[in-house]
Amino acid sequence: MKADDFKLKIELVPSTVWFSSVYQILKKNKKEERWKEIKRELFKREGRRCWICGKENLRLEAHEFWEYDDANHIQRLVAIHHLCALCHKIKHVGFWLHTQEGLSRLKEEGLTPQDLIDHFCRVNSCTPEDYEKAEEQAFETWRKRSRHKWKQDFGVWL
Ligand SMILES: [Zn+2]
Ligand SMILES: [Zn+2]
Repeated sequence: MKADDFKLKIELVPSTVWFSSVYQILKKNKKEERWKEIKRELFKREGRRCWICGKENLRLEAHEFWEYDDANHIQRLVAIHHLCALCHKIKHVGFWLHTQEGLSRLKEEGLTPQDLIDHFCRVNSCTPEDYEKAEEQAFETWRKRSRHKWKQDFGVWL
């Protein structure tokens, strides 16, 4: 199976736009109320389930989905959905599996790197080798995109 067909994809945010998400900006400007409103809207629209794997009745984290215009270096926010903690960690696997802080926080939560990889394979019906390939590809794209500054388009969210 090609990585593009996976239901749960790794999507690493270029380092040049780290800490510049809707969540971070609202927090910085003391507008947490707006973030809570975004989450309330998600619960209303999508119920209490993970938008990717469908798991229900667990803590949900809102994740920002971006599209990249690689020709013009525009990062565009196209959606926000609620994800379970495991799907969400796969989205940010660069942090969770490839930084000291991520790995120690993972341990604090009682999880191992293998738990994340197993979840990826279960949701995508794929093998650990497929995971390795998808991760490699995601890092290659991340390295290329991190060489550029990006203009951000927050759409209707900011
Ligand atoms: Zn999930
Ligand atoms: Zn996220």
